[in-house]
Amino acid sequence: MSNWTGSWAADDVLKPGGGCEKEVIEMEDLIHQMLLKIGEDPTREGLINTPKRVAKSMEFLTSGYAQDPEEIVGDAIFNEDCNHMVIVRDIEVYSLCEHHMLPFYGRCHIGYIPRGRVFGVSKLARVVDCFARRLQIQERLTQQIARFVKDHIEAEGVGIIMEARHLCMMMRGVEKQNSCMVTSAMLGSFHNSEATRNEFLNLVRKPLD
Ligand code: ZN
Repeated sequence: MSNWTGSWAADDVLKPGGGCEKEVIEMEDLIHQMLLKIGEDPTREGLINTPKRVAKSMEFLTSGYAQDPEEIVGDAIFNEDCNHMVIVRDIEVYSLCEHHMLPFYGRCHIGYIPRGRVFGVSKLARVVDCFARRLQIQERLTQQIARFVKDHIEAEGVGIIMEARHLCMMMRGVEKQNSCMVTSAMLGSFHNSEATRNEFLNLVRKPLD
């Protein structure tokens, strides 16, 4: 990786051997430059380690590029004679909008109807993190989670609702501090059956605090 494009390929990840140490240092240089650009003094006490901290922070916040959701789920798929709706609600979401690289955060609710195979419950939250720790738009993030859940266990249907607040909208631009964006993805029976969709929506309906 020669520059910070936000598009790490799977084989271009931070390896335990420190294969990408160079990139971390480059990132620190960029943050140093940014501090100068906004009129700051990067040598003053409070900022002296800021480039290092921001680089580490960005590494974490974009660590999803280096993760494979298939690997995250691993063997935590359980055969269960279940074909009723499973819902995991109020999963916290923290991501960065790709337009401003500012956070958006909120929560998402995942519902699915299995066909004999269910996810270990904590795995779904980790799948959300894997896709959220990338530069995203909320619409795509919602779709990616839905598609993965559907495909991975060949679910009969999947529904995702995501509610999030976008700092790019709250702190700048239109400065609408109370706006909340809601996105949804409905696949399979959640898309085709109004009754299924309504069951899901009724079970997850609750406003964002
Ligand atoms: Zn934005």
